[in-house]
Amino acid sequence: MNIPVRKFDAVIVGAGGAGLRAAIQLSEAGLKTAVLTKVFPTRSHTVAAQGGVAASLGNSEEDHWHWHMYDTVKGSDWLGDQDAIEFMCRKANEVVVELEHYGMPFDRLDNGRIYQRPFGGHMSNFGDKPVRRSCAAADRTGHAMLHAMYQRNVKVNTQFFVEWMALDLIRDDEGDVLGVTAMDMETGEIVMFHSRATIFATGGSGRIFHSSTNAFINTGDGLGMAARAGIPLEDLEFWQFHPTGVAGAGVLITEGVRGEGGILRNSSGERFMERYAPNAKDLASRDVVSRAMVTEINEGRGCGPNKDYVLLDITHLEPATIMKRLPGIREIGIQFAGVDCIKAPLPVVPTCHYQMGGIPTNHFGQVVVPKGDDLNSVVQGFYAAGECACASVHGANRLGTNSLLDLLVFGKSAGETAVADLQKGVRNHKPIPQEAIERSLARVDRLNNQKSGSNVHEVRLDMQRVMQKHCGVFRFDDLLKEGVDMILDVEKQVRQTEIKDKSQVWNTARLEALELDNLIEVAKATMVSAEARKESRGAHVRDDAPDTPAHPNGRDDQNWLKHTLWYSEGNRLAYKPVQMKPLTVDTIELKKRAY
Ligand SMILES: Cc1cc2nc3c(=O)[nH]c(=O)nc-3n(C[C@H](O)[C@H](O)[C@H](O)COP(=O)(O)OP(=O)(O)OC[C@H]3O[C@@H](n4cnc5c(N)ncnc54)[C@H](O)[C@@H]3O)c2cc1C
Repeated sequence: MNIPVRKFDAVIVGAGGAGLRAAIQLSEAGLKTAVLTKVFPTRSHTVAAQGGVAASLGNSEEDHWHWHMYDTVKGSDWLGDQDAIEFMCRKANEVVVELEHYGMPFDRLDNGRIYQRPFGGHMSNFGDKPVRRSCAAADRTGHAMLHAMYQRNVKVNTQFFVEWMALDLIRDDEGDVLGVTAMDMETGEIVMFHSRATIFATGGSGRIFHSSTNAFINTGDGLGMAARAGIPLEDLEFWQFHPTGVAGAGVLITEGVRGEGGILRNSSGERFMERYAPNAKDLASRDVVSRAMVTEINEGRGCGPNKDYVLLDITHLEPATIMKRLPGIREIGIQFAGVDCIKAPLPVVPTCHYQMGGIPTNHFGQVVVPKGDDLNSVVQGFYAAGECACASVHGANRLGTNSLLDLLVFGKSAGETAVADLQKGVRNHKPIPQEAIERSLARVDRLNNQKSGSNVHEVRLDMQRVMQKHCGVFRFDDLLKEGVDMILDVEKQVRQTEIKDKSQVWNTARLEALELDNLIEVAKATMVSAEARKESRGAHVRDDAPDTPAHPNGRDDQNWLKHTLWYSEGNRLAYKPVQMKPLTVDTIELKKRAY
């Protein structure tokens, strides 16, 4: 079947922070650039980011990119690639100042410089004490950031396709990427976006879990499309559970609350983090705080009638400070917990928040896959940035405020690399392979013709429950093994989902069914990769890999200091070494992670 074709120099899928930053680079270079997005750009999940963006500006006290790099390597539990981490931390000041020049309304110090607050795991002088590194616009940093970058894109004539859903990645026989098929959500029409460069910036996939801080649109479409097209997914066993989701609702309470002085308390009012992280206390890194909270709850020191949450207390802060620095949080507390945090502490539990893994890239934003002896062979025409990508700077655990930084640095880097590649003129529009188009259309046809199949909502819920129970904050061998079988069973249901409404116009049922195809790829990758990794590291903590002198924190560097690569075809796993060598400085050597 023939479908309409639209030609662009570059197609970017996703209009969150990463997509918008990449688009600025391409449009400013005069390239014809299309940005596809399921929602209006400023409604992308980046809009929900609260706490800030990390950069060692040192506006309130001494700071240095090398300290930031050290914290990030340590935070990653040494699974992050040190070349990419050095690249990101060194670039931070440049991209934050650039953003300021785009009109980002950062909070200010009295001397006019950008306001910075402390954040978990960010320390001065190679792990000494918390440092003010997070540049913030109150508790609405992502909101301010998206608007500043959207405006910039309007200025440089980026062409937006709003409410268009990309369906599949199109690759030819040589493995080169030639663009995507996409559906106009309003009319149901399917079009081929034929491009010389394709950049994925589709964000996270937190919706594979039942309780998540992520937006409903965070369904891992980029990962699903890549996996179906034969690209492996990297390190997906590593998911960050944010310590402070509102109990029962999952809505995020930023770590900035603890940065401003908030304290976690158990049922006896004890500041329990003093026992788990004597130095950093409530500002230890997220995996450490989440596990401490779950331990308190499991050992019977939780709060409330079911003893199933802990309290986040800021009642000791001045009401004026709360109103100035955390107005959105007060609002969330009142709306979702019925608690005014000026007067009473907020009920909180760890909630799925962020995927450390994703589509494998290098620090130039190019997608890389193993090919023959080359473990990092560049896929021609394909780039990725932001949460859907794995550069890998976050390794086994991401530090707060390092994601917004990742969007800016690698969004820009992917854009720059694509511009350079296109300006070399080597890549023209290659002929479109008809079989790839047919495969993409077959998925939609199957849905249009399926009779007496499974219900999308029920299957999604099954998947989310399996993930939550079998692959949560703490992991157990038997639960993981069972989880693999269960998720493969769920997959069978996904293959035969049925939608009752088969109409064309604004068919949200069809869109949700297509999203579920992507979610299940991410869920499988997560469960299979987690079951296979027989150590504890960062956010992946197994009951059967405890902290011993031979294996600090349960880590097994001898066997597991390596990245996982999961292939959808055959549910196959492969591994590649971690890049321990930075670009210019010395390697940050392995040691036990303690805060
Ligand atoms: C509540 C919350 C608070 C956070 N706070 C912070 C913070 O303070 N600091 C920090 O550093 N990090 C924070 N994070 C993490 C950070 O915000 C995210 O990792 C980051 O914003 C992701 O940006 P992105 O550009 O990769 O994707 P997103 O902003 O999620 O954008 C994804 C884009 O892809 C589009 N898209 C997806 N699939 C398709 C498809 N099939 N077709 C077309 N378009 C598609 C969407 O429409 C959207 O435009 C927070 C996350 C959450 C959930």
